Amino acid sequence: MRIKTFIATYLLFLFILYASVGVVLIYLSNSQLDMLRNKSAAQYQSIIQTLARDISILHGRPGWDVQDLVHEYARYFSRHNVSLNIFEEAQNGSANAEVTLVLDGEEGHRISIVGHMPEPFGHFLLEYNLNIDANIQEMLDIQQVLLLVVVVVSLLAAVALYILLAVVFRPMERMVRAEQRVILLQEEAESKQQFVDNFTHEIRTPLTSIYGFAEYLQKASLPAEEIAESAHFIMDETRHMKNIADTLLELATLRNFSPTLKEIKVAALFNEVTQSLSPLLDKKGVRMVYDTDGGTIKAQEDLIRSLLFNLCNNAIKACKPDAGEIKMEFLNNKIIVSDNGCGIPIEALPKLTEPFFRVDKARNRAHGGTGLGLTLCKQIAEVHGAKMEIASILNEGTRIIIHFTKP
Ligand code: ADP
Repeated sequence: MRIKTFIATYLLFLFILYASVGVVLIYLSNSQLDMLRNKSAAQYQSIIQTLARDISILHGRPGWDVQDLVHEYARYFSRHNVSLNIFEEAQNGSANAEVTLVLDGEEGHRISIVGHMPEPFGHFLLEYNLNIDANIQEMLDIQQVLLLVVVVVSLLAAVALYILLAVVFRPMERMVRAEQRVILLQEEAESKQQFVDNFTHEIRTPLTSIYGFAEYLQKASLPAEEIAESAHFIMDETRHMKNIADTLLELATLRNFSPTLKEIKVAALFNEVTQSLSPLLDKKGVRMVYDTDGGTIKAQEDLIRSLLFNLCNNAIKACKPDAGEIKMEFLNNKIIVSDNGCGIPIEALPKLTEPFFRVDKARNRAHGGTGLGLTLCKQIAEVHGAKMEIASILNEGTRIIIHFTKP
C-alpha cells in the first residue's frame, strides 16, 4: 500500500516537474530567439539607412566603389559578429527584407536578413548575417544546468517523499496491525467457544445413555442376558468417550510440539500400515496398494504412522464393501492417500479439519469415529512443517496430500 502510494505520487510529481521544466525551456529559447531576431532586424535597418546615406553622398564621385564602402562597414560590424555582403542586380527590388533563422547551417547558427536598398539604390541587394553560435551555446548550457538541477531535485524528492509517507503511514499501519490482531483474537475466541459447544454436544449423548443404562440396571432384577447387554452398551459408550479423551490429549501434546526427526524409509512404513490394516481390509473386501519413489522423509515415525492409520481408516470407511481401492503413494516429497469411496461434498471440504466435524453425523458416529481424526492429521503435518491438502469428488473418491518441505 505504502509502496503503491509512493510510486503513484512520485510518478505524478516527476510528470509535473519535467513537463513544467520542458515548458519553461521552450519559452526561454523562443523568447531568446525572438529577442535576437528583433535586435538583428533593428541593426539591419540602421545599417541600411546609414549605408543609403553614404551611397547617396559618394555616388557619382570618381573612383568610388560600393563594395569598398560595404567592406568598411563589414570590418566595423565584424566585432559584433555581423557579416555584410552587397550585390548589384540588373533590376530594382522591393525594400522589404526577409529575416531567416538558420540553425546548424554550414556557417553555424545565424540570423540572415536579405533585402534591397531603398530607392533610388534598389538595385543593390544587402545580405546581413548575425552569427548566434555563442547565444545558442549559452542556451544549451542553461538547459544542461536546468536538467541537472531537475535530476537532483527528483532524487531529493524521492527521499523526502519516502520519509513523509513513512511518517504518515506508520500510525495507519499500526492501526491495521492492531485491527488484524483483534480479528485474530476474536476468531480464536470463536473457535474455542465452537470447540466447547461441539465437545459438550459430543459427550452428552454417551453420558445420557450411560446414565440411562446404569439406572435401568439398578432398578429391577433383570435377566442375566439383559444385564450383559446393558453392560455392553455402557462399555461401548465409555470406549467412545475414552477415544475422544485420548485423541484430545494427543492434540494437546502436539500443541507447540517439536518432533524428534529421524530418516524414515517410507516404503517400509507403507508396508507396515498395510500389514496392520489387512484384517480390516479383508473384512470389508477393500484392496490397498502402495507405490514410492524409494525416498525417505525426516519425521517422527510414530506420528506419521498414526497419520497414515487415520487417513487409511477413513478411506476404508468411505469405500463400498468388496469394491474399494486405496492407494498410498510417496512421490516428490509428498505422501498421497487416495480412495474410490463415497467422496466428500464440496461445501464440507473447508470444515473437515475442525474438531468433531463429520459429514454424515449419525453414520460416522455409528462407525465409532470421533470427528477428531483429520484435526489430528493436520496437526501432525503442521508440527513437521508440512501442509495437508484435501481434494474430493462426491461419489468418486478422495485424495489427501501431505506436502513435506525438502529437508
Ligand atoms: P472421523 O472420526 O469421523 O473419521 P475425521 O476427522 O477423521 O473424523 O473425518 C471427518 C469426516 O470427514 C468424517 O466423518 C467423514 O465424513 C469425512 N471423511 C474423512 N475422510 C474421508 C474419505 N476418505 N472419504 C470420504 N469422507 C471422508
